[in-house]
Amino acid sequence: MKKYNYENLYFFNDNQTGIKGVICVHDTTLGPATGGCRMWTYATEWDAIEDALRLGRGMTYKYAAAGVDLGGGKAVIIADPKKDKSEALFRSFGRFLNRLNGLYITGQDVGTTLRDMETIRSETPYVVTLPRELGGAGPISPSTALGVFQSIKACVKEQYNTDQLKDIRVAVQGVGSVGYHLVKYLTEAGANVTIADIDTKRTKELVEKFGVRVESTETIHSLDVEVFSPCALGKVINDQTIPEFKCKVVAGSANNQLADEKHGDYLNELGILYAPDYIANAGGTIYDTDRLKPGGFNEARAINHVERIYETMTDIIAISKEEHIPTYKAADVFAERRIESVGRAKYLQKDIVNNMK
Ligand code: NAD
Repeated sequence: MKKYNYENLYFFNDNQTGIKGVICVHDTTLGPATGGCRMWTYATEWDAIEDALRLGRGMTYKYAAAGVDLGGGKAVIIADPKKDKSEALFRSFGRFLNRLNGLYITGQDVGTTLRDMETIRSETPYVVTLPRELGGAGPISPSTALGVFQSIKACVKEQYNTDQLKDIRVAVQGVGSVGYHLVKYLTEAGANVTIADIDTKRTKELVEKFGVRVESTETIHSLDVEVFSPCALGKVINDQTIPEFKCKVVAGSANNQLADEKHGDYLNELGILYAPDYIANAGGTIYDTDRLKPGGFNEARAINHVERIYETMTDIIAISKEEHIPTYKAADVFAERRIESVGRAKYLQKDIVNNMK
């Protein structure tokens, strides 16, 4: 906790419902610690603690860089999402959140659903991800895709000096919730799109809808294209794939795209522009948290904020060039500068928590 200046780490347990887990509060400089609630069968309790700490710190950077006035945090429930879910368990979790009185605000993550968030909401106001009918933003994947689209545009501008995506060749790996909407944006902008997905029913649907081409999942990353967009799995930028890249831009929604930080350095040395994952995929988070602003969720305002990922990416490219550092490091610098310059604006936290009550 000392190494990365964590503020708090909380443990919760309730024998009656069987819930146990950890809440990490990394940094509340910009606002209450916010981040999803992950449900996972961790091998040991230490693994759960480490995951909460790692993910919570990641959220501090994600919000700061995205221009959202929230701090970073995360909750992990040590349980099997396929077997252990119950109304009582999530309500118990909600009561733990009440004890923190708004210091940590939860949301949907791996292993939890919008429905689970509704159950938590019946006990506590400190939930950000909610369906529209409960004042939330509803599904967020289209906004995540919009943010990736903006990052692609900013990177293409830098590498090819054009504001247009017309005839720019883009290879999209994974056309699930995010990939689907990204392909829609790209084809509307006139880009030349090739897709790959292990789900052949899905690829067929996109071919019919958007007239795209399909490539094998083994070779999609190595196509002769301007942009490679990973929207399926993590660690796709690695020792094996980098020598096969022919693109000049890598920008997608997948989390943890760099197998290791050194792969971000390699891309930089090769002149391949990488849109850091937590910058490119922040659209959904920006959209989701709009409801915490004065007046509650406002779609036009939320979309406008997501579109600003273009400027953020442009600023990060500028830092990378000025400081001679790869973009994944420039993104951290950008986020740290914002935290520092906005400072301990504690009134923001009070406003947000009061709005939620
Ligand atoms: P999804 O599960 O809806 O889609 C993933 C798609 O990838 C599926 O269609 C799946 O069949 C395909 N796939 C799996 N393995 C593949 C492979 N080897 N090659 C090609 N395709 C493969 O998930 P999603 O919500 O679209 O998210 C995609 C990625 O973006 C994930 O890494 C996710 O963590 C990240 N992300 C998503 C959001 C969001 O708003 N949904 C936000 C931030 C980050």
